[in-house]
Amino acid sequence: MAQLSSTPLSDALEVTSLGSEGERRVVIVGHKSPDGDCIGSALALRSYLLARGADEVSIMVVGHVPDNLLWLPGAETIHQLTAQSDLEPIRQALGRARLLLLVDFNHLGRIGNPLEGLVAEVIGRPEVRSVMIDHHPEPEMGLVSEMYSDTSACATGYLIAELLGSSAPRELELYGGADMATCLLAATYTDTGLLRHGQITPALFRRIATLMELGARHDEVVLRIFKSDKLSRQRLLGFIIDERTTYDLDLGVAVFALRQEDFDRFGVEPGDTEGLVNVPLDVAGIRAVAFLREQRDPEEPVKVSLRSQGNLPVNEVASKLFGGGGHLNAAGAEYQGSLADALALVWQGLRELVDRYPECEIID
Ligand code: 5GP
Ligand code: MN
Repeated sequence: MAQLSSTPLSDALEVTSLGSEGERRVVIVGHKSPDGDCIGSALALRSYLLARGADEVSIMVVGHVPDNLLWLPGAETIHQLTAQSDLEPIRQALGRARLLLLVDFNHLGRIGNPLEGLVAEVIGRPEVRSVMIDHHPEPEMGLVSEMYSDTSACATGYLIAELLGSSAPRELELYGGADMATCLLAATYTDTGLLRHGQITPALFRRIATLMELGARHDEVVLRIFKSDKLSRQRLLGFIIDERTTYDLDLGVAVFALRQEDFDRFGVEPGDTEGLVNVPLDVAGIRAVAFLREQRDPEEPVKVSLRSQGNLPVNEVASKLFGGGGHLNAAGAEYQGSLADALALVWQGLRELVDRYPECEIID
């Protein structure tokens, strides 16, 4: 379902009307613990806006950019914030902004502290045009001046490519070079697990073709994002499969959890586990997977990641039992309790879900 502003995205991103030269300053905000879709989309927009004449484009996120995304053009400019970060440069960049882009998330709570409150202040300023571009269900309404939300898009990066590529056909050609196209491809490939899940449509393949015609570097994206695991991560995966995963083949559910000591033993950071939750879904008969991990953040000690196949809405488990959210087949939450309690809850939630959706249905 799409909730699109009646203004074409290319108009909402028009920078010359923001002020005279020197004043056309933009801030792009992603969600906490950003993934490839968030970072790829933000960097693509940065490259596009600079080509259109923006004087300054700052990207800021709470948490770390995963290592396998740091090669993307412009990634070295991203402000990665932690509780200890010096917020002065962030306050200044936000204070100067005339255009604020919220990318790959649907409500302010997903930004995370310490950035959330600062961004909320900026949205309220009359001279700031605020734009949300996202594909998650139930976006916060009334928040921004221009909303581009489409839950049928497999990735925010794909939504951007469609909005700039089809409504104004020359936009991408004029301002989107090979770097922008590469970032959009990276965004789309990460959120679809290399075109293995999400809504994979003929239009998506057509758009990928046009991105490659613009110079998107498919081979480099695949190699650097999907074939660049550290050996420690592969070893951790072996340990997860061998020793940590409970497979309930009657129920069609697999669950695994990692403690801080597991991360220490394998020399892996909790944030470097992106994608591991998808692995048990490759087992025949497994329809849902939960991955729970201890985080270093004492306020949110447990992170829950959920994935499913077909018609099983794991976002219901994330929202009803953990106060999180997400898509039908990929959802998550943070839990303020022990790992053992979170595990019990997740099993209960997935059992109930499978009871309610006993049939395996592949949905389009
Ligand atoms: P992941 O498991 O990769 O961290 O997250 C998968 C999806 O779940 C994300 O794209 C996002 O939609 C959602 N998600 C993850 N963590 C949270 C959370 O803490 N709160 C909410 N509302 N959604 C989350
Ligand atoms: Mn996304």
